[in-house]
Amino acid sequence: MIDHIDEIREDFPILKREMNGYPVDYLDNSATTLKPKAMIDEVVRYYTYLGANAHRGDYEMSAQVDYAYEGARKTTAEFINAARKEEIVFTSGTTESLNLLAMMITNQLLHEGDVVLSTETEHASSILPWQQAGYDKKVSVNFIPLTKEGRLTIDNFKKALEDNPTTKVVAVAQVSNVLGYTAPIKEMAKIAHEKGILLVVDGAQSVAHMPIDVQDLDCDFFCFSGHKMCGPTGIGVLYGKFELLEKLHPMIFGGESNARFYKYEALVLKRTPYKYESGTMPIEGALGMAAAMRYLKKIGLENIHEYELELKQHFLERYEKELKDKVTIYNAENGCGIITFNVFDHGKLIFPQDMASFLSSKGIAVRSGQHCAKLMGDLIKAPGTVRASIYFYNTMEDIDRLVDALKEASFENTLDIFF
Ligand code: PMP
Repeated sequence: MIDHIDEIREDFPILKREMNGYPVDYLDNSATTLKPKAMIDEVVRYYTYLGANAHRGDYEMSAQVDYAYEGARKTTAEFINAARKEEIVFTSGTTESLNLLAMMITNQLLHEGDVVLSTETEHASSILPWQQAGYDKKVSVNFIPLTKEGRLTIDNFKKALEDNPTTKVVAVAQVSNVLGYTAPIKEMAKIAHEKGILLVVDGAQSVAHMPIDVQDLDCDFFCFSGHKMCGPTGIGVLYGKFELLEKLHPMIFGGESNARFYKYEALVLKRTPYKYESGTMPIEGALGMAAAMRYLKKIGLENIHEYELELKQHFLERYEKELKDKVTIYNAENGCGIITFNVFDHGKLIFPQDMASFLSSKGIAVRSGQHCAKLMGDLIKAPGTVRASIYFYNTMEDIDRLVDALKEASFENTLDIFF
């Protein structure tokens, strides 16, 4: 239970700022989250006290950085219950993690005619890298059919596997960033593994909102970004089962990934995960992300999930009474804090970007457009949607402000913003 919201809000300095003359009502948490002071302080501590590079120096300051950086790896492993800290590779974010996996797996393990199964609601970074890597090799990306609301079901998954018998990889998000439905990852892993198929999970939208246990899910890879979980930008994670990370060969080479390299034929790479971390890493990012994870653990991931649902329920109750005639929600039953909708004035769609600008004029931050998932045209017959995404520092009042603004919105006053 979250019963100390005022205290929590004090932890986020940015909540003191205004937008267009109103206290900021930040409901764009799927794009990125706000940052608690504990995380900001950790980044500042690196720059004001630690300072040195990691895994390079033979002096005390450098050893302190090594200790902090490897500590961040351990914190990250514990956060998702990885079996060992060496299963955590730091990257710049989900996008880089997914791109690296698509390139490594396609180049090293797949053959012409193999199939990567995905879905049409995936973020671009979970489809494009596979299409790109598979293009020359004639490895295709095919889609698991979704229900009419956009859910991924086990029955449809099994059917897609029957229709695509050469499937070697399944790459899906645990929680969709557009609709917020949760994929049945654990059951999918079991079915995939019975057929020797690898399961790559995009955890960008799940990791900060529910407890994650990669051993229980039994996925082969799990990717996420620090900035969507109260951490810094420019840091993310590629989790992989140790034996798979050992088997793959990295895509990026440089200092610190190799043990010896006199001749290329004699290249000896360091062990996992260091062979994947060439060049100077975002050290302050890793430390900051670990601080964010400690902070989130203190609040409790179960509590966060439950609180988001409480706020969403409040929205839905007011929606039923006050908004039903003019707002269409596409995902009321998704079980998370992502609300995707469109607003209509006498049946005429208010263009989502106009709606977002109107809400901004009232200090409310939401996302509008296609949310980097551009294949969804058949599921939502509109040029885009408005997305409000809730996090644990939002309040009932934030939700009330959104509902009040939606009630007020009309075709005319949303266009007025531009004139
Ligand atoms: N996958 C999903 C489901 C996402 O929501 C996002 C971010 N919107 C990404 C991948 C990409 O994350 P990043 O931009 O942090 O690399």
